[in-house]
Amino acid sequence: MATIGFIGLGNMGGPMAINLVKAGHSVKAFDLFEEAMQRVVAEGAQAASSAVDAATDVDFLISMLPAGKHVEGLFVTGDQPLFDVVRKDTLIIDSSTIDAATAQRVSAAGAERGISFIDAPVSGGVGGAKAGTLAFMVGASDEQFSSAKPVLECMGKNIFHAGDHGAGQIAKACNNMMLAILMTGTCEALNMGIKNGLDPAVLSEIMKQSSGNNWALQVYNPVPGVMDGVPASNDYQGGFQVDLMFKDLGLAMDLSQQSASPVPMGSQARALFNLHKSKGNGGLDFSSVLKLYQDS
Ligand code: NAD
Repeated sequence: MATIGFIGLGNMGGPMAINLVKAGHSVKAFDLFEEAMQRVVAEGAQAASSAVDAATDVDFLISMLPAGKHVEGLFVTGDQPLFDVVRKDTLIIDSSTIDAATAQRVSAAGAERGISFIDAPVSGGVGGAKAGTLAFMVGASDEQFSSAKPVLECMGKNIFHAGDHGAGQIAKACNNMMLAILMTGTCEALNMGIKNGLDPAVLSEIMKQSSGNNWALQVYNPVPGVMDGVPASNDYQGGFQVDLMFKDLGLAMDLSQQSASPVPMGSQARALFNLHKSKGNGGLDFSSVLKLYQDS
């Protein structure tokens, strides 16, 4: 069993770290927010006194932070860059969703010092983090991927090697742009059906068995009461926040600009989430974008 440092114990990182403990690893956990850290310590992790402490003398170091600036600050540009602290044989796995350019820059800065830093963002939400069923999209060399895989398998069900450094973040941006398009399209169709007198449960079932079938209809219906256990049936609480979806669509727009890829559907979805967020809905689950259609 390995010794693993874990930094960033929020909605996602907390349950991921707990799954590592449950798998028998020795976990040194750190978060700036004491309460988040104590939740993980209560499940058997060791409380690290600082990020430096969590990064010192570990086989793996995992980070699960909000955005690229936090990741780059922690490892490269901050007051106590962790690249100055980690052992050369520590494999650093960043599972935050950040822009691919930052992931590549941090990885290159590590490589210059003989340190391995790979990107491994996740899909599957808080439910997947708790259940240990996340999908990991990994940007790494073959050797780094092989080393990371057994650890990632303690937290996820599907572990993909997307390509070299940064490729995991590119896959994640593509996936979440697709998800935003699917969810807004599903809301659009369901709202039109409802306005024309259809029962949303019946319409959902028809589309699920027809060519409009998609992930939102299958497991994440946006209309309250159609499906049990989804955020729509819980006042759009929990799940994946509009703020985070908006952030991820920003990453997709950056990527499209850097690669001159046309994304008319993605940018339209981003505009819709932007409007929804500007009406004070940033903290709600992203399926609440249905309200934008219902209110207009
Ligand atoms: P969160 O805000 O709940 O957690 C982030 C944690 O990082 C916080 O507890 C914060 O205190 C801590 N933190 C920030 N800077 C730190 C530092 N320098 N040192 C130590 N701790 C620090 O966010 P989350 O929902 O857990 O998301 C984390 C990442 O995962 C984000 O990049 C997000 O886009 C991505 N993600 C989230 C979901 C989801 O459904 N929530 C799904 C997939 C991916």
